[in-house]
Amino acid sequence: MKKDTQLGHLGRNPLQTHGTVNMPVYRASTIVFPDLETYGSRPADDYKIPRYGIHGTPSNWALEEAVAKLEGGYNAVSVCSGLAAINAALCAFAKSGSHVLVADSVYGPTRSFCNRRLAAFGVDIEYYDPLIGSKIKNIIKSNTCLIFCEAPGSLSFDMQDIPAIAQEAHARDIPVLADTTWGTPYFFKSFEHGVDVSIHAATKYIVGHSDVMMGIIVTNEKYWLPVRRAVADYGYCSSADDCYLALRGLRTIGVRMKQQMSNAIQVARWLAARAEVKRVLYPALESDPGYALWKRDFEGAASLFSLVLNPVSKKQVATFVDALKLFGIGSSWGGYESLVTAPNIAHLRTATRWPDDGPVIRLHIGLEDPQDLTADLAQALAAMAAAA
Ligand SMILES: *Cc1c(COP(=O)(O)O)cnc(C)c1O
Repeated sequence: MKKDTQLGHLGRNPLQTHGTVNMPVYRASTIVFPDLETYGSRPADDYKIPRYGIHGTPSNWALEEAVAKLEGGYNAVSVCSGLAAINAALCAFAKSGSHVLVADSVYGPTRSFCNRRLAAFGVDIEYYDPLIGSKIKNIIKSNTCLIFCEAPGSLSFDMQDIPAIAQEAHARDIPVLADTTWGTPYFFKSFEHGVDVSIHAATKYIVGHSDVMMGIIVTNEKYWLPVRRAVADYGYCSSADDCYLALRGLRTIGVRMKQQMSNAIQVARWLAARAEVKRVLYPALESDPGYALWKRDFEGAASLFSLVLNPVSKKQVATFVDALKLFGIGSSWGGYESLVTAPNIAHLRTATRWPDDGPVIRLHIGLEDPQDLTADLAQALAAMAAAA
């Protein structure tokens, strides 16, 4: 089945749910059993049978199965946030005395978790140039226990050659973990590109409506149990109601993402032609250094990108952002609505140097008409110039 057909059919079976088209919400903490024998004989490693609320109910499993199948993974588990998914996946492999390689362009809170938590447990954290490719082999150590990728990187959108990194990792039996939130299970087939453990902030496009926090970890068969056990050991879980909403969001991820990609490319091209803009950081544009890798590995692009403005004052940046009427100022992305932030990238780099002095603006392009969005950006750029 093609992925758009899968989206309509995965994770539901009306004949088993009294004919309801959608999997109902099974809320539960306690699950009861017919007798002590059955209660006592639950297989410890089977996390897709009724056990206890923390391990999920059919509502959770329906979403997890749909995401795993869409992405081409073996199995999946959902947790309370994208960050919890990242942390649980890291802790499934990292241990005291081991060495962890993390892309320098990684999501900021992932870096904080590594620096403040993993390092405190005696894990040696090393950040690497996201453009490293197969040269990663030169920095892999005998105690390297995982390689963490994120393509494209948060805020700066550097594209990583994940297959090249995975080839070197797998030659040494090291798992490749990747934050694939931008690619989504719809536009990036992680497991065909060498990822072993794919981590999604489902909060973004999977939920798609800016109203649920959730993370989903999808793994191949080899790493399913270590990851699933780590999630169980931390006591991370997701609610049945949230899984219902996430699965409802997933049904339309295809139409949303195709439309948002088209809108984003239109807005990004318009911005790239503006004199105020030094460069646009978006692998879906031919002019982007990551374009060839993106074209090779991805089936589409998320509608999230950054731009570097030619140097202007802090006050002008604030004037620009505040003047926007159709872009909400706030964290997160992947919903139906447009958003703007003005992140500071330079302080998040340690292995590489951020080359630009000009301010960075990150835009999330929603489902609005792109002509209205560019008109809004035009008037905000005019306000910025007037504030000089
Ligand atoms: C938002 C985000 C996360 C974290 O997801 P939460 O659900 O907000 O915890 C992780 N990675 C990336 C790339 C993100 O954008």
